[in-house]
Parts: sequence; C-alpha cells; structure tokens
Amino acid sequence: MKLTIIGSGTAIIKKERRAPCFLLETKNQKLLFDCGWGCLSGLMEIGINLNEIDQIFISHSHADHLANLIPLLQSILVTGVYFPQKARKKDLIIHGYKGFEKDYQSLRKIMFPEKQETYRIIIREHTNDKEKTNNLEIETKEVTHVPQYFPSVAYRINSEGKSFAYSGDCNYNENIIILAENSDLLLLDGSVPVESFRKHGPFLTHLSPFEAGKIAQKAKVKTLVLFHFYDISQKSEIESEVGKSFPGNLIIPDDLQQIIL
Ligand SMILES: [Zn+2]
Ligand SMILES: [Zn+2]
Repeated sequence: MKLTIIGSGTAIIKKERRAPCFLLETKNQKLLFDCGWGCLSGLMEIGINLNEIDQIFISHSHADHLANLIPLLQSILVTGVYFPQKARKKDLIIHGYKGFEKDYQSLRKIMFPEKQETYRIIIREHTNDKEKTNNLEIETKEVTHVPQYFPSVAYRINSEGKSFAYSGDCNYNENIIILAENSDLLLLDGSVPVESFRKHGPFLTHLSPFEAGKIAQKAKVKTLVLFHFYDISQKSEIESEVGKSFPGNLIIPDDLQQIIL
C-alpha cells in the first residue's frame, strides 16, 4: 500500500498545508480519506483522475474534512456531461459516520442537486463495524471529537497483509487504541501546539503529540504519522513530545509526501 499526504493542515488556511486529505493506494484501488479544502487541487497536482477513486472515507463533518466532497462529485458529473467519453462508469462508495447519508443529501440539495450520475454512488454509515468491501477489510470505530455536535468515526483498512488506521480529529480515547492495534501505520491528528497545550491543558477535541504517541505505543503500531499541523515551525518540538511516549517510527510529513507501507 502507498499513502500520499494530500493535505496535512487544519481549518486554519495556510498556503503550505492543505486541509486534511489522504490517498491510500492498494494494488487495485484508490481510497480517499477525508476531503478538506485544497484536496482537489492536490489530487490534480499528483495526476489523479477523479474517476479512478474507488472509495471515499469521511471521518466527521467539519468543513476542513468534508468541504471538497460535493465539488469532487460535481466535477465527475460535469466532466461526463461535456466529455461523454470520460464519463465515470464504476461505482463510488462513500463511507461516513452515523447520520452521514442525511448530511450528504442536504449538501447535494444545496450545492449540487442535479443527480444524473452515469455511475452509482453508494453511501455507507458506520459506527463500530467490520465489513469486507471490494476485497478490502474495513473496520470502523466511533471516536470522540465534538460529540455534542456530531459523531466521528475512525477507519482501519487491512489489505495485502498490511494494515492502515486513520482517525480524523479526535481526543484521547480507547476506541482508537483498539482499532489501531498492531497496525503497520497509524495516521493521527496529533499536533495541538505544544505551547498552547501547556498553557490550556489537555484539549477536549484534539490530541497533543504526547497523547498521540501514547496511543501509538499502547496500540503497538509500527509507524505513527501525524497530521493536522498548525505551524510547521514546531516540527522538532512535536518530535520530542512524541518521543516521550512512543519510541517507534514517527513521520511528520509534508503535503504530497508519499509513504510506502
Ligand atoms: Zn480538522
Ligand atoms: Zn474536526
């Protein structure tokens, strides 16, 4: 499997880091995890045709993780209208949290109500599930981020003897430890600025680098990859904070960096 970091940033708009979006490629499939602003331009930059994407996984509905989903679907459809030879034919499966289908339909109604798709869009909602879709084992667990507003779900993909686990934004919780157990790569929101963390104490909605490391250590993951970076200048501080709880392999990636599992 190959992971490409399309966006490693946050809701704070930065020219060097797009909002969260990750492309995981298996031998036969292209999987997109979250779809924040800048996602589409990032995919174009690495030469991905949107028709190639097989499945999309949405962790939660904050705009920095969801904003480019409807534009992506609109682009696929309009391409097919004006260039029929490029019309998409294969199914697109979109996974989301509990209640996602209703959110999806509302967003379609507001942003792009036309539904003349030349292919099927299949919506799957998840809580704590395990399923096999297109030869991939998909495991999900609900994680806590802003439960007073909406649910969040984390994903694990097992394929080709490797395992990849991804939580969108979350705070410290047992479910992500269970989901990520013995995974080859865990991709975690883990970059609440250390300064800010010291000043305000544990955040309720995000992980500090130390907490992210603690989750990786408890889950015995091989490689921890962090994202949701507020400020690139903190790289060394993030490394030393993670090092206090996780002695394993840590990657603090840049946008468009590729990681082989
Ligand atoms: Zn976020
Ligand atoms: Zn969020």
